[in-house]
Amino acid sequence: MIQIDLTGQVAVVTGGSSGIGLATAELFLQAGASVAICGRNTERLAQAEAALKAKFPDAQLLAQACDVLDADDVNGFAQAVQTRFGGTDMLVNNAGQGRVSTFANTTDDAWREELDLKYFSVIRPTRAFLPMLRDAAGAGNAAIVCVNSLLALQPEPHMVATSSARAGVQNLIKSLAVELAPQRIRVNSILIGIVESGQWRRRHAAQAQPGQSWEDWTAELAQKKNIPLGRFGKPEEAAQALFYLATKLSSYTTGSHIDVSGGVARHV
Ligand code: NDP
Repeated sequence: MIQIDLTGQVAVVTGGSSGIGLATAELFLQAGASVAICGRNTERLAQAEAALKAKFPDAQLLAQACDVLDADDVNGFAQAVQTRFGGTDMLVNNAGQGRVSTFANTTDDAWREELDLKYFSVIRPTRAFLPMLRDAAGAGNAAIVCVNSLLALQPEPHMVATSSARAGVQNLIKSLAVELAPQRIRVNSILIGIVESGQWRRRHAAQAQPGQSWEDWTAELAQKKNIPLGRFGKPEEAAQALFYLATKLSSYTTGSHIDVSGGVARHV
């Protein structure tokens, strides 16, 4: 990978305490950026902070408990980043999880919850960090990158609410990119298929046959789901795409996305 020096830049990763977010925080730290991560579970957050500090003893790292669906939490997180680092150059909207449900078994409340999570996990942090991103734009790189799913373009009936919400968010990202382009803030997304991460580890624990290893379970699922590359993605593979879209490496790209689905997308 091309080396890029992010010394003096600040990256914020929501949901940075696990999976894709944690791998992304690690890449930013490796490149010399100051990094802020958040998550709801304080134990998981503390573990992630300790792991990152062990790998990068000189890391400029802020880990703060924050639910991205809580406006006060998000504003408090943004304030803490401003106080500690003096601004934000890159915001990765990553926090969230998927919902497995069909139309038949998705209640009104479940629809509302899912729409709320998918939209407001982008809207709230974007709104809270926007003033800092505007300030950063003058220095040459200000970017928002959202972790979205291929379900936005290729819905799955067994994840009906998530698919629908993901499509709406992809549409929102396009509008944001156009609205923020004159302010020199780029907005992009990645569309992921299946990436090994905390939520899949939890599904393995709940759904695998007794004694079925993680490797066997994921290989079987990859085959069942016809993933052309024959395996789940790794968090760091999603992180590398996020890193590209957050940094100057993609300075002429906005309103766009990178497919990180192992070839699952059917459209041209
Ligand atoms: P993980 O479960 O490993 O990580 C999710 C992270 O988001 C955790 O740090 C979690 O911490 C945090 N989080 C969840 N909800 C909130 C919230 N309301 N406020 C703040 N933090 C929150 O999963 P992934 O790495 O897989 O997920 C990253 C993103 O990728 C998610 O948005 C997910 O929906 C999306 N995605 C993942 C796919 C996959 O195959 N892995 C497929 C498609 C999309 P905590 O729980 O402590 O809050």
